[in-house]
Amino acid sequence: MDPLVPRRALLSWYRSNARDLPWRHTPQDPYAVLVSELMCQQTQIKTVLPFYAKFMKLFPTSKALAKATEQQVLAAWAGLGYYRRARFLHRAAQAIVDAGGFPDSLEGIRELPGVGEYTAAAVGSISFGLPAAVVDGNVIRVIARLLALDSDPTKGDGAKAVREAAQALLDPKRPGDFNQALMELGALVCSPTKPACGTCPLNQHCAAFLAGKPEAYPKLPARAESQTLFKAVILVVQGKGAKLQVLAQERTGKKAPAKGHAADRLKGFWAFPELVLPVEDWTAAELLSVKEAKKILGKGVALSGRLPKLRHGITIYDIHLLPFRFEVKEGKPKTGWEWVTLTKLKKLPLASAEKKLLHSLEAALNPPIESQLGLNL
Ligand code: SF4
Repeated sequence: MDPLVPRRALLSWYRSNARDLPWRHTPQDPYAVLVSELMCQQTQIKTVLPFYAKFMKLFPTSKALAKATEQQVLAAWAGLGYYRRARFLHRAAQAIVDAGGFPDSLEGIRELPGVGEYTAAAVGSISFGLPAAVVDGNVIRVIARLLALDSDPTKGDGAKAVREAAQALLDPKRPGDFNQALMELGALVCSPTKPACGTCPLNQHCAAFLAGKPEAYPKLPARAESQTLFKAVILVVQGKGAKLQVLAQERTGKKAPAKGHAADRLKGFWAFPELVLPVEDWTAAELLSVKEAKKILGKGVALSGRLPKLRHGITIYDIHLLPFRFEVKEGKPKTGWEWVTLTKLKKLPLASAEKKLLHSLEAALNPPIESQLGLNL
């Protein structure tokens, strides 16, 4: 395929169809591009937008981020998931400050903590005009379809074919726009299940479309099946109003947060006592939770009731949380656990599951006035 024709068609489509995203207004700022690229990995853009705005307000430059504590960075990232990205970004900002500025070569960018080939190509092409093709999930899908590639495009020869085709297609004069255009096409037109081939600017160059079977590509290996996990969560409170405190603990990174996860994945985040259950059995979970709460706080702790079940997804795990609410008049928790006021807890790094649990606890502690009056509206 002569790359000139699809290049022009794609760039012209991008000019009229590119989404107005905040980081696209600052391509000359490699730090802003790096933040956006790390946030967008494994995460939908609409989820990223409010986090990006908040993060850039708190840490507008690599200098500001380098000066922050890890707890401040994690708190700003909390809810976005995949927290290793936040730690890497923090370390990358420190490396940039130590080096006296953002590296402007692919090799230099690649050496920043947490930056792989994809991110280096994205930042390098967008901010410095370096002619490096990006290969992310969207690009893999588009190229595998353009080529009607019969092998797995994520491994071995298939991956090599995708990399080479992406590099051959890249417009060396406008590599940043071209890379973004190809990713945008994958996100908006060449979707995984229903590609809108009729409106695609590349349809006359697409072997899968011309063969009448775009959905047959890419040829990916079967996904790992989702697994269900059950956990009882112990939410203990003491005090009232502004003095209300919740029993919590900062994760040390010695214990994995879920089966199959690295132990330090949520290091630095705050969590409530929890127990892994073999099955969803509220009665057994309640007995075990009472026993555990007593182990942490002694005899003065009393069960106040159950809270609604919550579900939380992490990678292939579908986690069912069975929360129990306890109250204690006065209690000194055993080592490792602390009383933290609700106000303070909300400012600390909390992963999505803990945020949901806290929200549910607050709703139980402050029921709507109608239910307090016994009205069934
Ligand atoms: Fe994807 Fe269809 Fe365009 Fe081919 S023609 S690149 S399958 S949207």
